[in-house]
Amino acid sequence: MHGLSNRIKWRDGFECPKCRHTKFCNGHKKHVRQCNRCNYLVSPTSGTLFHKVKFPLLKAFYIVYYISTNSKGISSTELSRKLGLRQKTCWLFKRKVMEAMKSSGNHKIEGNAEVDETVVGGQEEGVVGRKNERKKIVVFAVERKGKGISRLYGKVIPNSSAKELGAFMKSAIAPEAPIKTDEWTGYGPLKKEFSKLKQIPSGKKGANFPDLHRAIMGFKGWLRGIHHHAEHLQAYIDEYTYRFNRNFMKEKIFENLMKRMVEAPPCPYKTFNS
Ligand SMILES: [Zn+2]
Repeated sequence: MHGLSNRIKWRDGFECPKCRHTKFCNGHKKHVRQCNRCNYLVSPTSGTLFHKVKFPLLKAFYIVYYISTNSKGISSTELSRKLGLRQKTCWLFKRKVMEAMKSSGNHKIEGNAEVDETVVGGQEEGVVGRKNERKKIVVFAVERKGKGISRLYGKVIPNSSAKELGAFMKSAIAPEAPIKTDEWTGYGPLKKEFSKLKQIPSGKKGANFPDLHRAIMGFKGWLRGIHHHAEHLQAYIDEYTYRFNRNFMKEKIFENLMKRMVEAPPCPYKTFNS
């Protein structure tokens, strides 16, 4: 199974992480490569999100497969049942996969963009006590194409100020793109950076932004249907938008996510125990 990680990791040839030498011989362990110059041993999972996974790598690949190919993703409980691993183990590894689903920021919206903020959480079913009150503001941007939406991005923001909205928009939208927002004052100052930004009334229940609001409802509906943790909201947005934006390349999505897992730097579990 290390062979697959191996093929992806070294598809452009070997390079020693220590001394950048490109010649290697095979180490005494299967799939481990040894640098010809400094004798450094490199495992195919080192420097990837598969680093130090304590269960069979094949099962880890299956987790990536299920998350990328199920249109709604898969819960850690279901993964646990399918793969015979502890639920907590599945959740922690799934959280790493979600990390690899983060937007690269390389494909900014260039067409007709629409931006709006919404409140997520507050009345999550099955969550009792104070957690119930945790509301978060999320700003979403979509690209409209033809009759639908070709791209969706979202970010949890601490408040709806021009500074926060602007930072998100710069990461998601090209400066020359035509943008529509509602009349919220936070968008006003952003016309300096986005010259084609137009503010129009939102209309009754967002009637002037039907596609954007349908996309936001879609996300909220999905989130309600899974057992989620409010403190990981950004990761859920990343997971949802990753699949949403790759709806057109379904056959390649597993390969794409595997590549991201291999290229992403290792991410110790303690990062998520916030
Ligand atoms: Zn070396």
